[in-house]
Amino acid sequence: MHIDNEIKLDFKDVLIRPKRSTLSSRSSVDLVRPFKFLHSKTEYAGIPIIAANMDTTGTFSMAEALGKHQLSVALHKHYDAKDYVEFFSKLTNKSTAFYSLGIGSADMKKFEEVMKAAPDAIKYVCIDVANGYTETFVSFVSSFRKSFPNMVIMAGNVVTGDMTEELLLAGADIVKVGIGPGSVCTTRKMTGVGYPQLSATIECADAAHGLGGLICADGGCTRPGDIAKAFGAGADFVMLGGMFAGHDESGGEVLEKDGKKYRAFYGMSSKSAMDKYAGGVAHYRAAEGKTVLLEDRGPVEGTIQDILGGVRSACTYVGARRLKELTKRTTFVRVTQQLNEVFG
Ligand code: 5GP
Repeated sequence: MHIDNEIKLDFKDVLIRPKRSTLSSRSSVDLVRPFKFLHSKTEYAGIPIIAANMDTTGTFSMAEALGKHQLSVALHKHYDAKDYVEFFSKLTNKSTAFYSLGIGSADMKKFEEVMKAAPDAIKYVCIDVANGYTETFVSFVSSFRKSFPNMVIMAGNVVTGDMTEELLLAGADIVKVGIGPGSVCTTRKMTGVGYPQLSATIECADAAHGLGGLICADGGCTRPGDIAKAFGAGADFVMLGGMFAGHDESGGEVLEKDGKKYRAFYGMSSKSAMDKYAGGVAHYRAAEGKTVLLEDRGPVEGTIQDILGGVRSACTYVGARRLKELTKRTTFVRVTQQLNEVFG
């Protein structure tokens, strides 16, 4: 039995130390990042924040709202093939939308059907499994890369440098990082498995950048400051579920209770999701996600402004003129308290 005694950290354990800066205004901070990829020849430019491929955040209408600000969406995998064909055929070159799939044969069949009907329309895919540590997953990524040499492939999830390297070598351009930090995830509770998200981001980014690859920090951001910390820790992209949930663009039913409007938000491995898409929870597994009711948050536009405002402001505090400089200019201080909670 082995115990790693080095303390691993989460967003809540640190703050970003301010630095002397010549920047006078948030408006002079550029959040757009251009990226070249390890394998694909596609070139990306945008604000590298992605709505998660959950059916309440990775929607077509979320893609449209976020696209206006150069943010991206990883679409959920439960639309009909013809709907993807229509969506991707209309997508302009400036918008980035990831087509998501798991490694099952039904997902691959649907993907091939969409590719056949709209060749060249899809440029980004997100190959997503809960546990990116299996050999089956690595070989799937590797054969997908052989079949689609110019596709931008994001693959995950993992939380350690060794597996980040393995996925990049197998053909991924972006490795998705995070096991258990999600707002509606219960993996840590059900399995005892996980890794603090800030340390996972730092370690996986380091491994990826050494090979010329990129990472996407996925899960655990609860407020704009956490997104700034994820970028500060070395994330190239940051994926958000809960922060984008509960809006008009999230779709799903609106429930009324005591005169207030609510929207359901649930993990994609929750009982709610499995009842909806897989005819219930299979006998050999347990749900690893939960369902919550969120007060309706209206259009996502206000949340986008908050997020971009927060990250821009973080950049001015450390003197980063561009988002790219945020990592270099970040020093984290370990803290025992984040906020003054006196007024709740
Ligand atoms: P959030 O931004 O809400 O903290 O985290 C979003 C991420 O949680 C998603 O991108 C995905 O990686 C993860 N996630 C979504 N649904 C589930 C689930 O049912 N179980 C687990 N373990 N993770 C989930």
